[in-house]
Amino acid sequence: MKKLLAKAAETISEAVFPSNIYCICCGSLIDGSRVYSLCDECIRKFHWASGRTCEKCGKALPDAYRGKLCYDCMDRAHYFTKGYSCLAYGLHERAVLLDYKYNGKGYLAKKLGDMLYDRISCEGLQVDLIIPVPLGAGRKLQRGYNQAALLVRRLSARWGVPWDGAVLLRKKETPRLRSLNPSEREMALFGAFAVSERGSCKIKGKRLLLVDDIYTTGATADACSKALLYAGANQVYFLSLASGGNRKPKDLECRN
Ligand SMILES: [Zn+2]
Ligand SMILES: [Zn+2]
Repeated sequence: MKKLLAKAAETISEAVFPSNIYCICCGSLIDGSRVYSLCDECIRKFHWASGRTCEKCGKALPDAYRGKLCYDCMDRAHYFTKGYSCLAYGLHERAVLLDYKYNGKGYLAKKLGDMLYDRISCEGLQVDLIIPVPLGAGRKLQRGYNQAALLVRRLSARWGVPWDGAVLLRKKETPRLRSLNPSEREMALFGAFAVSERGSCKIKGKRLLLVDDIYTTGATADACSKALLYAGANQVYFLSLASGGNRKPKDLECRN
């Protein structure tokens, strides 16, 4: 029934907002051949993470930056094995993601899911199951969908790897993490995620790919990975659509 409803919603949104007519970023007219439904100008303006990236979390690094790890990864170890990201989070990426998350444009999931597939399928990564970062019940009700789950559904269909949105649960709503420092983020996320009883049987000894739309310091990815590993997963990899800037924490200023 859930699948039928999702399919019906997709058909309606495709009829109202045909995905290959307008650029998903600037809204200009395009033809059906444009990759990810982006016009030539927008596809050039997007910051694809195709150059140097952090060896641990996959965040795009500026050419002038000398380190192999981003500042956040230098500062703390992660629970996930390795992260990958499609884009660096800039103005244009932000506009599309805000539209996707807050302006009811869930139908963008198809194009954004294709970006995830193109990014991860060339890595030769073998995973058993894809898990979306769960959304709190309140936010899901407000938004009508979990943005990560829609991306995962498309990624799974393209990649042929199964996904499960009922393995990892969000036990409490968390405040927006943007303005919090690393230890405040950790506190805010303490006990926020848990694996369902059914979920723990599915992930025992398995390699998982955790997916979210945005990655910044890794606090959410770590909180989820920790819960999955604690429940018996063998390894957790992480994939995001866009990753945030490489900001230097104050206590690292004299170390680099
Ligand atoms: Zn455009
Ligand atoms: Zn990193």
